[in-house]
Amino acid sequence: DKGLATVLTEDGPVRATWSGALLAAIASDAHAGPCTGDWAVLRYWPDDRITLECLAPRRTAIVRAEVSGTSKGQVLAANVDVIAIVVGLHPEPNIGRIERFLALAWESGARPVVVLTKSDLVGDADSVADDVARAAPGADVLVCSATTGEGLSSVRALLAGDATVALLGSSGAGKSSLVNALAGVELLDVQDIRDDGKGRHTSVRRELIVLPGGGVVIDTPGLRGIGLQESGEGLAAAFPDITALAEQCKFKDCAHVTEPDCAVRAALEDGTLPHRRYESWTKLQREAAFMARRNDLRL
Ligand code: GDP
Ligand code: ZN
Repeated sequence: DKGLATVLTEDGPVRATWSGALLAAIASDAHAGPCTGDWAVLRYWPDDRITLECLAPRRTAIVRAEVSGTSKGQVLAANVDVIAIVVGLHPEPNIGRIERFLALAWESGARPVVVLTKSDLVGDADSVADDVARAAPGADVLVCSATTGEGLSSVRALLAGDATVALLGSSGAGKSSLVNALAGVELLDVQDIRDDGKGRHTSVRRELIVLPGGGVVIDTPGLRGIGLQESGEGLAAAFPDITALAEQCKFKDCAHVTEPDCAVRAALEDGTLPHRRYESWTKLQREAAFMARRNDLRL
């Protein structure tokens, strides 16, 4: 909520109003407002008011690029160590979508991991995992099932050292089931928040979950529909193979279409670069270029 934040403290969640200093900071920097995953300093006043004074510097930030409007993108989650890209093994995963999630994840500064879940529904989970791993250089690929518990220990290991793991993935991928399986209990979506002195039930979707065994999971609905940023850095990190090839092209601005001595086209022709992957990269390049142009127009 604007002006109000739910902050998890040792004594449970509290509602805090933004301090004047914070409001002033937000007026000049859209990213200064609190978001899921931020560490906050609270002030408890003698009259029982609680104000959110300031935020700790963020280690990482997942930012949504806004397609309309004039603000720079909104921060959706802060201080995320690992981004778990959750994908169900059934129906068959869309590898292009995984590559897109990977580009977003690399851009945030957090470590991406692909978690292929619902392994109980398919017979050849490992061969799919191999295909996905080829599309995810530099990222671990885990296979698990929330239903049978298979592979959950490797997913739990992502939370080691009280790490913060953000879930990315389409609706129905199996994220909630995974969190419940990791927690070992069914987590409720309804929290009891006392915000008017009388105490009342407020239905709040829980976006940040501190797991009983240590570690934090962030599952923000907003993370599901994020677009690429203009920098293209995430794209380069998600496609190190194509980035390296493009550097070997004769022309620095090679479009890999009709130019002579194009290393990308040569790799497509000799089969070392799969066409599917090249097309996926081209599509994401266009998306990032669109964002860059849009931001130029705004200046
Ligand atoms: P979310 O939208 O990503 O949070 O996905 P849910 O956790 O709500 O799961 C979507 C559907 O997939 C539900 O019907 C779940 O019961 C089912 N599901 C989730 N994980 C598994 C799994 O490991 N195995 C099987 N067989 N079904 C699963
Ligand atoms: Zn080229």
